[in-house]
Amino acid sequence: MIVVGAGIVGLTSAFHYVKNNGGKVLVVEAQAGPAQGNTARSVGGFRMGLFTSSINRLISETTVKYYLDVQRGGYDLGIHQIGYLILLDELNYDMYVQRVQELFRAGTAKLLLRDELKSKVGFIQLDLVDEEAQLMGLRPIKGAIFSPFSGYLDVEKLAMHYYEKLVEMGVEFKFNTRVERLKLAAVNKIGHPREPFAWQEKKIEAVETSRGLFEAEKFILATGAWSQELLDPLGIDSYIKPKKRQIFASPAGGELEAFFNVKGFNDFGTLPMTFIPRGPFVAPRIRDRSLWMGLSDDIGRRWGLDFEAEDLFFYDNVYPLLRKIFPVIEGVRPQSKWAGCYSINTIDENPVAFRIMNLIVATGGSGSGVMKADSLGRIAAALAVDRKEVELYGGVKVPSTLLGIRERRIEPEMLVF
Ligand SMILES: Cc1cc2nc3c(=O)[nH]c(=O)nc-3n(C[C@H](O)[C@H](O)[C@H](O)COP(=O)(O)OP(=O)(O)OC[C@H]3O[C@@H](n4cnc5c(N)ncnc54)[C@H](O)[C@@H]3O)c2cc1C
Repeated sequence: MIVVGAGIVGLTSAFHYVKNNGGKVLVVEAQAGPAQGNTARSVGGFRMGLFTSSINRLISETTVKYYLDVQRGGYDLGIHQIGYLILLDELNYDMYVQRVQELFRAGTAKLLLRDELKSKVGFIQLDLVDEEAQLMGLRPIKGAIFSPFSGYLDVEKLAMHYYEKLVEMGVEFKFNTRVERLKLAAVNKIGHPREPFAWQEKKIEAVETSRGLFEAEKFILATGAWSQELLDPLGIDSYIKPKKRQIFASPAGGELEAFFNVKGFNDFGTLPMTFIPRGPFVAPRIRDRSLWMGLSDDIGRRWGLDFEAEDLFFYDNVYPLLRKIFPVIEGVRPQSKWAGCYSINTIDENPVAFRIMNLIVATGGSGSGVMKADSLGRIAAALAVDRKEVELYGGVKVPSTLLGIRERRIEPEMLVF
């Protein structure tokens, strides 16, 4: 078996494959080490009890439960359940509150009314009625949804957890090795130089890399945002497109200390990761005492691979909105910034995992690939051995075609922010 890509999805796929089937596995990765692609650029945020779609819930919560148990077992994944807080303005309040009734009933999300929000977060500006606020489309905030079990983890630590296990299990890694082409061949060769012909049954025979040709019986393609580079030449569509996402970080201190002195949400005394639907977010990072900020822009942001963080994106788009809601942000100058690409599944922004010939494609993490990676890896590993059913962490069984292209029956997620 050859796994292409040592991001979090390649690592989980290789891990579950070897754990269940043993055998020789080679992981080929263009970068110099594991998880140096978009996994390294991730915020590592996870939702727990904060999805409305049952598939989202299933694949993320089983994954996060596994991560929590790993940390409880003594392996530090840097998990901080600081909670998620989704601010609701007058316009979207009723709609969101209606959509998450089930989560309120289940006790995984809680509604905070305006006064409670203000009493907990003294430095938040809820009125937002002035001309500037109106110009930016901000409206008075009426309340918030609080998800106490959500939070973030350290993606490097998570990747190391799987990587160390894979090395222990004897999996070989070839870093600094770029796959240039997936080599197609006929299953039953006739020895003609131009085969495979259209009428021949086909398979992937090998990967042509910057360091030579590697052959295998099966292949898992876990190349995230780069997936179509290898699939387009074969005429295979994973419905994945890359889109740039940017994060800006500023150390705490001065006025920003306010974010780290909030009572009543979590054991760390911070504001939860806070989102404005379809707008910016702020995430107080506890270990490095810095504030991470970002915004997932949509129309106007071109599809494509792009890893340049733009100062002006922060000052034109993120800063004005955040400063209005959190005036303590006034004058902030991020000291670091980075950009990565979501591998966005353009159908429903959920991962895809499907098998075509002897190739398994596992990608499309979109903005939630880290929090779904363990389940995605299990599904990819099951597809590799043609198993019809997959057991996710905790024993839940699902069909291995759950995230396929043709077979997918994914309800739209109602809680998008
Ligand atoms: C800014 C940002 C913030 C995010 N925040 C969150 C979050 O809060 N929560 C969450 O769950 N998710 C988040 N995500 C999404 C998450 O990071 C991704 O879904 C996840 O990391 C994808 O993992 P992957 O293994 O599919 O991709 P990657 O980590 O990109 O791995 C793919 C690997 O394939 C390698 N590769 C590609 N092409 C080739 C080739 N031809 N030959 C050899 N190797 C190749 C790459 O070098 C790379 O290492 C965020 C993403 C970004 C960019």
